[in-house]
Order: sequence, then structure tokens, then C-alpha cells
Amino acid sequence: MVTAPFFSSDIQANVRAVQNTIHEAACRVGRDPASIRLVAASKTVSASRLLEAYQAGIRIFGENRLQEAQEKMETLGTKADWVWHFIGRIQRRKIKSIVGLFALIHSVESIAQVEMIDQQAKKMGIRQPILLEINVSGESSKGGFAVSTVTDVMSRIQNLPNIAVQGVMGIPPLTENPENSRPYFQELRRVAERIREKFPKQNAIIERSMGMSRDFPIAIEEGATLIRIGAALFGPREQERTILF
Ligand SMILES: *Cc1c(COP(=O)(O)O)cnc(C)c1O
Repeated sequence: MVTAPFFSSDIQANVRAVQNTIHEAACRVGRDPASIRLVAASKTVSASRLLEAYQAGIRIFGENRLQEAQEKMETLGTKADWVWHFIGRIQRRKIKSIVGLFALIHSVESIAQVEMIDQQAKKMGIRQPILLEINVSGESSKGGFAVSTVTDVMSRIQNLPNIAVQGVMGIPPLTENPENSRPYFQELRRVAERIREKFPKQNAIIERSMGMSRDFPIAIEEGATLIRIGAALFGPREQERTILF
């Protein structure tokens, strides 16, 4: 049912293959494929390969490190329909520069971060869209809000004027069998639904950022609206080859 990872170096072919897989997974569960946005997770990938991906139809690029992203932005210049997301661990001292630079921050993992983002956005006169990273696996190595604290967190941040909480993000434990990710995706979806029920004012909470190269078809079956795909688009990352295989 699930296509094996296709870690080729032909970006255009990879984009097609991923798009086809998105389409198939959406159709299996009666979802509109257009309700799923593909974010190219482009850490360690050079600007010229990002441009190749753009030419093959990718529009959203998710970066993990501020400085690397800034370098690529400078190299690539401004394109009206090119969208940058931040998907990496957020360092406190980088928040000032991250706010406003990225259309969506996926990886907000503490109330302190939410408040700092709100403050900075206020200074800039903007409203920063964010997702709350949820630690669905409960692993201490992973960032994110514990599932049991989400309602409390939402009560504390719901009235901050300069952030827009648009949804949730989560990463299941690394596993051989992508099927193992399914319960974590289901949990994330329940968290999003619970927020929507308890905070009707926040009915803007619609995004579920979940699914990576190995498990995105399953994430789509379980309601992903944003999938973050690296290796399946760009090939394996050099420094992670030994981990992936
Ligand atoms: C690298 C990364 C991805 C993509 O991982 P792949 O397995 O290469 O698809 C997704 N999300 C985050 C937060 C990442 O850092």
C-alpha cells in the first residue's frame, strides 16, 4: 500500500513521484489532494537544487537553521510565490530574526517562545502565523508541548494579539515500519480537534503538519494538511546516510 522511499537524485522525477503519492493517498481516504500542501524540507540542500525543485513545481521550502535559510534567501533573491517556512528547533536569540522572515513557524515548543514571537511581531506590526509542536511520542529527546498540557497552553496564549495559531505539528518516533507512525498521527489529529472544540474563537486551527519521506502517505490518510518532505525530494542527506540505511 505504501510506496517505498524513492531516494533518487533526479529532483523533477522525485517531485512527480511525491505528488502522485500524495494524490493516491488522498484519494484512498476520499480527501481532496489540494487540501494537502507539500513543504520541501530543504536543510543541507544547496540553493541551486532548491531552484531545481522550484522549477519542478515546489513552492514551499522548510528550513531548520536561520543562517542557512538567510544565505539561501540571499542567493535566490525574491520570488513572489516562493514561500519559506521554519521547521527547526528555535533558539531564543534567533527569534527576532525568524519572526516576519518565515510565512509559518512549525516548531514552536514553549510558552516562552510563543510570548517572544508575539512581542517581536508586535514590534514589527505584524501577526506571525505559528503551529504548536506537540510531543506526541512523549520522548524526552523531542521538543514540543506534552499532549496533556495543550488545553492549558491554549488558554494562556489565546489572546496574544500578534500571533496566529494555525495548527499543530508533530514527529513520531523514528521507526522501520511507517505503519508505526499511524497512532501518533491520529493522536495529533485528536489534539487539533480538541483545541478547536474548546477554543471556538480559534477556529482558524486547521493545519496538521505531519508526515515525512517515510510515512507521509499514512499521515495523509490520517488528516495531514502540511507534509514536510526532504529525502524523497532531494535524495538522502550526506551526514545522515548512515542513519537512514
Ligand atoms: C528533515 C526534516 C524533515 C524531512 O525529513 P525526511 O525524512 O528527509 O523527509 C521533516 N521535518 C523536520 C522537522 C525535519 O527536520
